[in-house]
Order: sequence, then structure tokens, then C-alpha cells
Amino acid sequence: MKGMVVKMSESAFAGVREDLREWRKSLSGQLLMRFIICLAIFFLLIGLIQYFSLKRALYSNVEQTLESALVASGNNIAQWFTTQPAPAEFRWADLPEGMALALYNKDGSLQAVAYANGMEEADILFASPPPFDPAQAAVDVRPLYLHDQRGDEHMVLSRAVGTDQLAVMHMLTAGAKDADWVRGFVLISTPLNDAKLILYQNYTGYVLSAWIVLIFSIIVTYFAVRQPLSPLTTISETARQVARGHYHARISEAEPTTTEIDQLRKSLNQMMEQIETALIAENHAREKMSRFIGDASHELKTPLTSIRGYLEILRRGHVDQEALAEALRAMSLETERLIRLTEALLTLNQITVYAPTQRADLGVTIMDVLEDSMPLIASLLGERKLNLNGEPLAKDSENPALHIRFPLRRDEMKQVLYNLVSNAIQYTEMEGLIEITAAEQNDETVFAVRDNGLGIAAEDLPFVFDRFFRGDRSRRRKSGQGAGLGLSIVAEITRIRGGNISVESEVGKGSTFILRFRQKAVH
Ligand code: ADP
Repeated sequence: MKGMVVKMSESAFAGVREDLREWRKSLSGQLLMRFIICLAIFFLLIGLIQYFSLKRALYSNVEQTLESALVASGNNIAQWFTTQPAPAEFRWADLPEGMALALYNKDGSLQAVAYANGMEEADILFASPPPFDPAQAAVDVRPLYLHDQRGDEHMVLSRAVGTDQLAVMHMLTAGAKDADWVRGFVLISTPLNDAKLILYQNYTGYVLSAWIVLIFSIIVTYFAVRQPLSPLTTISETARQVARGHYHARISEAEPTTTEIDQLRKSLNQMMEQIETALIAENHAREKMSRFIGDASHELKTPLTSIRGYLEILRRGHVDQEALAEALRAMSLETERLIRLTEALLTLNQITVYAPTQRADLGVTIMDVLEDSMPLIASLLGERKLNLNGEPLAKDSENPALHIRFPLRRDEMKQVLYNLVSNAIQYTEMEGLIEITAAEQNDETVFAVRDNGLGIAAEDLPFVFDRFFRGDRSRRRKSGQGAGLGLSIVAEITRIRGGNISVESEVGKGSTFILRFRQKAVH
């Protein structure tokens, strides 16, 4: 039981550690850490500056006190060097508390030490005199002039020595600047306990308040940084959703945020919109393609199955002449159908894949294709009339509509003309009228084929341009004609050449197929 508790708490601890590691890698974690580092550097710098300037101020204050004490004792000191030498060691009540004083002869040897009342011997700095060069001392530091009782002038110099004690050294001079000018040196010192205590208290106070400010800043900054960065969390969460396949996910733009993050949100949303659209389009295209392959295979399979059936009958033998002739006729029809179907499939593939890259020779008139197309059309036409803008369609007519240009290639124009006219012929009675219209109106070039034939049922109209669509299967099968690709080919050609195709039809009255090309025909 105990072991389990330990294990659980261990794993909880590991989890917290993992979270912390994650957080440290996060943007808010990084920002906060950098902020803390900067803050710590600032505090350190401010602390150092404060420490050293306070130390200087305190020490110079102590130095001032020593200077004052020296000035106050100036006459006595001058006397000890001139008229009445001081004893080797003595307590001197006139010295301010805590100070000690040392007198040196001009050769640097210690002459006497005096210390204030209440001062321990151990506190005195001058057990052995600090080494100094009197000449250098005279050059280095600022002079101070004192007068002894006789009126002699003494110049004193100040110098701080030591850190636990602060001392001021003065050179004592008298009279003219001759060889005897320097009489000796005096060094006055005091321990720095008070100044150090103030420094220490100030230091600990500063460190404590710096820690408090640092911790407080971390807490405040943590919450302050989280708020403006929270949209980034939403963004990464949404990006993860998209990566998992939820392409419809979008980043909410409601939450107020900074300009940069807002721009990022908008751009990402736009990008995700495009990705979704592209994926939908791709899926759609894939579905369309697989449906197309399925339909095409089915269309190919039907005549092949039929041919196999007839072959089976023939293989068994005992077939009379009439049945043989019938089987051969049927097989030849199915073969024709297969050829037409594969031709139509090839054409469709060519248009979709290659046509968009071939723009060089766009611009064709009906006249350009009439010679090639007319024999084929004429063979189907029978008794029906075929007009172009109200006049019989003929190569040698003066009809200006023959010369209107359409933004198509020659073979495309032939396909459009043949497919639409042959359909019209097929669904129109012998005495029917088929009317082609070619016109330029309002920046559009229009090509239309109208018939007064059977028309198309309203429920079939939306599908007539679909691949393999046949309005009335039984009728089409019987006639053994097209595979339901003729109108898809026309629609595909129109689409890739920037036009649009529409159909109007009424059962029993006839149909009109209209092609409109946005750009004006090329002249
Ligand atoms: P197909 O290659 O078999 O002719 P289409 O794509 O040209 O196929 O035509 C598809 C269907 O549209 C036809 O089966 C027919 O029902 C209908 N259709 C096309 N043109 C006409 C028309 N002029 N009149 C009536 N129905 C038409």
C-alpha cells in the first residue's frame, strides 16, 4: 500500500515535471523566463551601483570625521613633533571615541601611538606602520595647512588605508621648504564597523525587497503575458484539429488580440479555407473520375458481352444462314458502337488534358469547317431543313453568319457543330427544321442549334450534359447510336474556351442548345 502511494506520487511528480518542461518550451514560458532574467540583471546592476555609491558616501563621511579630528588635534600633533615629543604609547582622552593615531618620524619609523578611551589595543591599526613613500605622498594628495602654537605652518595630506579600518595619513611640514621641511607623518584611523553595518543592513534589505519584487513580478507577468498569448493557444489547437483531418475547423476571430496575431489568425483561416476548398475539389474530382471510369467500363462491357454471346452461339455450330447473317450484323453493330465509344472517350480525354495548353490557333468560323462537316451532316439530314440565321446552310451562300469567328480550334468547332446538329437531326422528324444561329451580341459570341423535334423531358434537362447520360435508354439502344458523350464533349469544349452552355427545351416542341463565349470573337 505504502509502495503504491509512493509510486503514485512519483508518477504525479513526473507528470508535473513534464508539464513544467512543456511550459518552459512554450512561448509564454520563454517570455516569462527572459523577463525574469532581464529583471534579475537589472536588480543586480542597480544593487551593485547602490552598494558602491553608498559605500563611497559612508567611507567619505568617515574620512571627513577623521579629517576633522585631525584638524582639531592639529596643534597638539605639531607640538609633539617640535617642542614636546609624545610618549611611545598613550591613551589620549581628546581623541574622539574609536579613533587611534600614529606618529611617524620623517624616516617612516613609528614614534608614538595614541588611542582614544574605550578602545582596545587589538583595534589599533598601526602595530607596524604601513609602508609609504613620503615624497610620493607629498606629490599625490591635496595639502592642508595647520599652524602650531608658535605659528609654524604644517601641511597635512590625507590618504585612506585598509578596509576594516579607515585611516587618513598626513605629512607634517614646518617652515621654509628646505631639507628640514618634512617633520614627520601622522596617521589617524577608526574601525569601519558602523559604516559596514549600515552597508550590510542596506544590502540585506535590498536583496530581500528585490526577491519580493521579483516573485511578485513573476506572478503578475505570468497572468499579464497569458492573456495576449491565449489566441496563440487557440491557433495551435485549431491547427492540430486540421492536421487530424477536421478541415472545417476555423480559428475564432472574436477574441480581441494584437494586430499581428489577428493578421496571423486571418491568414491562417484563409489558408484553411483554401485547403478545404482544394480538398473538396480534389475529392469531387476523384469521385467524378471513379464514377466516370465505372460508367465507361460499363459502357464498354455491354457491347463486348453482346459480341461474346454471339460468338458463343457461332462456336457451338449448327447455325443456319439467316441466324449467322443476323449474328454477324449484330456483332458489326456492337463493334461500331465500341469504336464510337472509344473515339468519344479519346476525344473527351484530349479536350480535357491537351486542349487548355493549345491556344495558338483559336478563332474559327463555320465556313472554315463546313467543307469537312457538311458531307457527314448531309448523310444524316434526310428531308429535314438545316438553316443558318434563317438561310439554308450552304458553302456558297453570301450569309455573313458563316464568317463570324468563335474562340475555338478548328477540330473543336467541327465537334460542336456535328454533335449538336446530329443530335437535333436524330430527335427531329423527317420534315423538321434545324436552325443554327451565329451572332455577336453585347461582347458575346453566340452559337445556337435549335430543332423543332421531340424535346427533352424537364426531369432530364439538368443531366443532359452529364457523361453517359441518355434521355431515353431504350430508344437510344434500339437505334444503336451515341454513348451519351456527345453533349459532354460540347460542354467540355465550351468550358475550356471560357464560354458557357445552356439548353432550353419543351417536350413536343423542340430544343435549343446555346453556347456563349465571353470574349468577343477574334477578327
Ligand atoms: P449521345 O452521344 O448519345 O448523342 P448526348 O450527350 O449527345 O449523347 O445526348 C445526351 C442525351 O440528351 C440524349 O440521350 C438525349 O436524350 C438528349 N438530347 C440531346 N440532344 C437532344 C435534342 N436535340 N433533342 C432531344 N433530346 C436531346
